[in-house]
Amino acid sequence: MSRQTFPTYSNTCGWNAMLPPRAPRPTLASDLYVDYAVVGAGFTGLAAARRLHDLDPQARIAVFEATTVGEGASARNSGFTGSDVLPRTATLQGAEKARRQTALMRDAFDWLTGIIRDHGIDCEMQKVGSIRAAATPAGEASLRKVVEVAETNGIKHAVLDRAAIGERIGSDYYRFGIHINDTYLLQPAALVRGLADALPESVALYENTPVQRLARSGDAWELATEGGRVRARCVVLANNGFIRKFGYLTLRMATIYTYAAVTAPVPEADLPDLGAMPGWGLLPSHRLGTTLRRIGRDRIMVRSLYAHENEVEQETAAAKLRDRFERRWPGLRHVGFDYVWGGTTAFTMNGAPWWGKLDDGLYASGGCNGSGIAKGTMLGRRLADLIRGVGDPAEVTDAMGIASRIAPEPFRSIGFHVISALESRRAGLEA
Ligand SMILES: Cc1cc2nc3c(=O)[nH]c(=O)nc-3n(C[C@H](O)[C@H](O)[C@H](O)COP(=O)(O)OP(=O)(O)OC[C@H]3O[C@@H](n4cnc5c(N)ncnc54)[C@H](O)[C@@H]3O)c2cc1C
Repeated sequence: MSRQTFPTYSNTCGWNAMLPPRAPRPTLASDLYVDYAVVGAGFTGLAAARRLHDLDPQARIAVFEATTVGEGASARNSGFTGSDVLPRTATLQGAEKARRQTALMRDAFDWLTGIIRDHGIDCEMQKVGSIRAAATPAGEASLRKVVEVAETNGIKHAVLDRAAIGERIGSDYYRFGIHINDTYLLQPAALVRGLADALPESVALYENTPVQRLARSGDAWELATEGGRVRARCVVLANNGFIRKFGYLTLRMATIYTYAAVTAPVPEADLPDLGAMPGWGLLPSHRLGTTLRRIGRDRIMVRSLYAHENEVEQETAAAKLRDRFERRWPGLRHVGFDYVWGGTTAFTMNGAPWWGKLDDGLYASGGCNGSGIAKGTMLGRRLADLIRGVGDPAEVTDAMGIASRIAPEPFRSIGFHVISALESRRAGLEA
């Protein structure tokens, strides 16, 4: 395992680039003593820090972010969120679990939307729903089961055929779909920046401050950064797959890079090719498929590709995303990409996060896979509750499960390559 304790990217985050520049908070430049040190200013870490402040207002709390807020994975995502849990490959037996997860997520989602409202965070949040779409017969069969779960769990939805999807998104690529009302689309960089800037004044945020080492020191923990050492009574590891870089959860998670591109504005004359809906988001039925969304009135975002532990070449990522875009909108070949970027997400074997106590005064949450906006917020907030002895932690572990063991290297890499080759073949046209 490399000594690099945080993710670095060879590209900048497109969502962040679309916003006006933001002045980052200072880098840590001296030693510090705090009650709570939070590593990572993504959705999980920011929720944990805010909730710790709510529960323990006198406490000294500091958040350390390796890069700048707006360049981390929380800003690099596709901006789909919501509280209703509807697994991609659903079974009726899974419906009860999904219902319990939804209850937890609704609570956290209401909390998140309350913060957005109270602090006037302009993250372009719109409730447009999302289309789960299938381009293959296998995808259609799997989505028909999702329809059953949506019916069982009383989740509002509409079933769509090829023509109905085509009318909405301007492409006749997909054969079957389900439109779910309870999905929000937002500008993820605007949200995470807004949440960071809305932290209570007494919560210190240090940006460009990677934590390089973590060690127990007497009855506290010591975190080493380039600019100073931090002693903390309690540490929250909210740095997702990079928790492993401190020697914890090494057999529970893998880091996956996935990629996104945003087109240049589509010329006025071609706007009908983007469909009749002013805003839409589309999720593939296959987990290795391509996510799409319309941004504003004239841009399309394409998200696809998975790479294990390391980035892929920028040109390769751009070419593959281009292929996904042109297959769906052959009439828009003349529209280029303005932004192409990658981001990390932590993958767990059974899809469950790892959440809880690692040691005395040491807690972690990671592995919220592809739905970190709501899930990371929920898990970060509930981690603060666990630390402060509020609520019943079993509510979280019973509903969400806990990340199962994953194979050690080199079997993990070999397994990833074999499974991703097989699954990519299965994904077929949905890739
Ligand atoms: C392209 C893409 C599309 C996605 N689409 C969606 C989507 O539509 N909806 C959704 O909900 N989720 C989506 N996700 C997943 C989502 O982005 C993640 O689940 C989410 O970012 C997890 O939040 P987090 O706070 O747990 O971790 P992160 O966002 O990874 O935050 C952890 C932070 O810790 C920092 N860090 C790491 N190591 C250190 C260190 N040693 N010291 C200090 N700081 C450190 C990192 O820089 C990072 O900012 C997507 C992800 C990607 C990459």
